[in-house]
Amino acid sequence: MDFQCRVRIGDELSEWFTVQQGVHQGAPFSMHLYMLSNNELVVELNELGGGACIADIKTTAPAFADDLAIIALFKATLNMKLDRARRHGRKWRYEYHPRKNKVTIHGDDSSPDIDVVIGDSVIEVVQQHNHVGVAICTTRKAEETSIENKIQAAYRMQLATQGIGSGTIRLSPDTLCSIYCAVSIPKMLYGLVIRPLRWPSLDKLEVAHWAAAKRIQGLPPHTSNPACLALLGWLSIEAQLDIQRLILLWSILCLPWSIIYKEVAVARLLYHIMDTRGRHSGPLYEMLCTARKYGLQDYISNRITEGTGPSQNQWKQLVKNTVRDRETTRWQMTTMMYSKLYIFMDAVLDIEMCVWWRVARAAPVLLHQCKLLVRVLVGEHGLGSNTGRFSGQGKQCVLCDGHYTETVEHFLFLCSCEAMHQPRVALWTELEDVMPPAMRADVMKMTLRARAAFLLSGCHSWVPEWVNLYAKILKYVHRLYQLRTELLEALEPDDISCT
Ligand SMILES: [Zn+2]
Repeated sequence: MDFQCRVRIGDELSEWFTVQQGVHQGAPFSMHLYMLSNNELVVELNELGGGACIADIKTTAPAFADDLAIIALFKATLNMKLDRARRHGRKWRYEYHPRKNKVTIHGDDSSPDIDVVIGDSVIEVVQQHNHVGVAICTTRKAEETSIENKIQAAYRMQLATQGIGSGTIRLSPDTLCSIYCAVSIPKMLYGLVIRPLRWPSLDKLEVAHWAAAKRIQGLPPHTSNPACLALLGWLSIEAQLDIQRLILLWSILCLPWSIIYKEVAVARLLYHIMDTRGRHSGPLYEMLCTARKYGLQDYISNRITEGTGPSQNQWKQLVKNTVRDRETTRWQMTTMMYSKLYIFMDAVLDIEMCVWWRVARAAPVLLHQCKLLVRVLVGEHGLGSNTGRFSGQGKQCVLCDGHYTETVEHFLFLCSCEAMHQPRVALWTELEDVMPPAMRADVMKMTLRARAAFLLSGCHSWVPEWVNLYAKILKYVHRLYQLRTELLEALEPDDISCT
């Protein structure tokens, strides 16, 4: 099929010329034409001996679109196959670019004196190469570097999004969170679902994830990790990868039998399930281990042997719920280990977007106050109960002459300092006035600690009609905090040091 092209540079156009070879970029039919021309070579490479096999399926030349790989057990066989590819090119008038091809050696190089060549040019041996966009690494070092690059890319992207919005009205954490989950996370995790992640790669990803959560919420870097993820409704990287892994596995198992991916997957899975004594590794083994981790392995066996099981959508829901339940339990356990999270533990009962970020989205002017309140909630408030341990000043409240520990409930309801008392009563009355009567009665019956947790949790639920109530809670906390800061500043430095 002849088609014609012309080149444009700026406003200038060249003459039309007939293209002798190649397909249109991006045309729907191009892919099929390309596959037609390439098929002969792929079949030929597979038929040649010495390549890789899974069960009795020849997997020498896995190809996807224009990404072709050749897998061989020895360099000599690889050279033979490359020569066949070169001859195919000569027959059909195309050439391989030696510098665009790379070799990766997995395991020890048994013949270091042999070069891998195509024609007369030697192909470079690398430790990392991309196949279908996924980095294939042969050493631990290369794997770590590739993970670090991914983290950096996601970080740069996040910084770019945080610049959106004006100086006075910033984007709410809720919006930043949506952008992060839609753009940065896929960028960071792309391809990792089929790569076995070893320590410290997974740790590095988790650290980057925590840091991102803190940046989005404007929390200090030393905020406790379990608190910062839960307030945005985020799962850990490990949990997210587990979900993706299980969903991918199921979608492969739901393919028709005629598709080679399913054939390969089933062959590998059966081997992993049956052979209990061998040493196992590989992406499908990782997936199987993940299924075992969540007690879902019977679904996998049933799907393979009987072809039964939930639909893809049902499976997705099942996996998400199972992983989330486990993550929630783990999160609750870790939260208990942080003493500064004692109010947080009572206030935040589930991993979901917290009320305050929703408020900040509905009323952007309240963003600043929401950030302050969340800091109080996660224990980064600078009150004596938390900072006293480090500053050597003790945990006592300076404003009450050091008789009481300055806990959150002390600060919110008890601090008996004159200058705090009057405004507090006024603010509390204002707050009570906007509470629904039943809630007001309940709140009055609560202990002070429960009351603090209730208020800081945003009354435990997001109800759009309550924006006024949320605003009053924010005002209450914000105003008291301001007062406390002013009073502390007014104290002589000597007064603080002697208490
Ligand atoms: Zn006090």
